[in-house]
Amino acid sequence: MISLPDTLCCRLSEEELAVNFADAHPPLTHAQAVVEAERCFFCYDAPCIEACPTSIDIPKFIRAIATDNMQGAARTILEANILGGACARVCPTEILCEQKCVHNVREEGHPIRIGALQRHATDWQMAHGDQPFTRAALTGKKVAVVGAGPAGLACAHRLALHGHDVVLFDAHALPGGLNEYGVAAYKLADDFAQREVEFLMSIGGITFSGTQILGKDFTVSDLRRDYDTVFLAVGLAGVRALGIEGEQLDGVMDAVRFIETLRSHDKKTVPVGRKVVVIGGGNTAVDAAVQARRLGAEEVTLVYRRGAEHMSATPVEREWAQTNGVSVRHWASPIRIVAQNGLLCGVEFARGSMKPDGQVVYDLQDTFVVPADMVLKAVGQVFLPDPLKGDSIAISSGRILVDDQYRTTMEGVYAGGDCTPGEDLTVAAARDGRDAAEAIHLMLSETSGQ
Ligand SMILES: Cc1cc2nc3c(=O)[nH]c(=O)nc-3n(C[C@H](O)[C@H](O)[C@H](O)COP(=O)(O)OP(=O)(O)OC[C@H]3O[C@@H](n4cnc5c(N)ncnc54)[C@H](O)[C@@H]3O)c2cc1C
Ligand code: SF4
Repeated sequence: MISLPDTLCCRLSEEELAVNFADAHPPLTHAQAVVEAERCFFCYDAPCIEACPTSIDIPKFIRAIATDNMQGAARTILEANILGGACARVCPTEILCEQKCVHNVREEGHPIRIGALQRHATDWQMAHGDQPFTRAALTGKKVAVVGAGPAGLACAHRLALHGHDVVLFDAHALPGGLNEYGVAAYKLADDFAQREVEFLMSIGGITFSGTQILGKDFTVSDLRRDYDTVFLAVGLAGVRALGIEGEQLDGVMDAVRFIETLRSHDKKTVPVGRKVVVIGGGNTAVDAAVQARRLGAEEVTLVYRRGAEHMSATPVEREWAQTNGVSVRHWASPIRIVAQNGLLCGVEFARGSMKPDGQVVYDLQDTFVVPADMVLKAVGQVFLPDPLKGDSIAISSGRILVDDQYRTTMEGVYAGGDCTPGEDLTVAAARDGRDAAEAIHLMLSETSGQ
């Protein structure tokens, strides 16, 4: 649990919290889904497919919904992306599939609600159907997957499908990775992450081994000795520091840790300030700010060092922050966390601007203080290479170096998801896990002469 001054506590009732953390986007009814599906032009060479990192055949599944073939719709989605249920809820569709929908360029300008339709189909499968896939004949091969987030889960499922046995190790007690501990609670409401893991693992052949830490309880070399292949999907375990005075004060913490506490504890017990300052400009900053508001913070100010157009949070997420009562301030860089009698009371920022040559400068003589009794730092996550010490796995630009087959520089060891270069998105991790499993399967088949 977070250590904070006693004055910080959740001030909302159980009922208010239940409303605030309920599903952010309630599902479509079947009638709404059919009407929405019928709007689709079912494009040949559909641009939405190309914009989806897992290349789901979107027109095909939407046509299946329109013709009331829910099982067919779900199968089309899940065979490309076994985490299609989570992706339907968390994908920033406005910069992926829906951005490319041809309806955008028509007069009325509303893309097909691909994410909502995908959710409708995958929810149907989880509610009505069994696991839609059957494992191939057992191969007798064993693969160790380290990290049970979207990349590790997608890899484990695809390997199990091909008849291999998988042990899925994770430092946490529960599988799911950031779906369980990171993504905003109202995006994956009603314990969806665990329900999806159960659904995925019902294929058989996957054993979960929790609270097992790579680098402490075992090494990659140990796994190489005991398993035919290893897949690393350990995500980004580190967070960047601000490197300014006062960062160690009680009440200053990483946004990721704040969200993890909120996701894994009774919300009534999670401390939150009255005046919260969030520093950062990405999705994590927005998620932390909105969830602090919904936990009962009276004022939440998100401060970003550049302009709105430079934020990595999408315009939809920025609007979401504002409609949730978060004040957003731009062009300000934190220079000091301010304390009075040893207690956190605000953050001092220097105002910044961009020069004509594109350089951003901050004026240390032109500062202002935003009052705060809680500060959440959301200035980026980093890959921690320490667990790989002693193994011959190369790191490049701060992530595990892999080739186009997801092979690391250590023989028989593959990697994917956030710990390797690329976009840090659930759907990109699911694609990496799936494609790495195909590469591993090919290698195992070739070496065993199957
Ligand atoms: C706060 C937050 C909100 C986000 N919201 C969204 C969103 O709305 N939409 C979206 O598309 N993406 C979102 N993302 C990004 C998305 O969650 C990640 O891109 C995705 O989870 C990456 O999957 P992964 O499997 O690579 O890693 P992770 O999900 O991080 O899983 C890695 C797993 O490895 C385990 N692990 C780490 N180190 C070790 C070790 N030494 N030994 C054993 N196990 C270890 C961890 O416990 C974890 O379970 C968000 C990220 C954050 C931080
Ligand atoms: S997985 Fe995500 S990007 Fe792909 S079609 Fe579904 S919602 Fe769109």
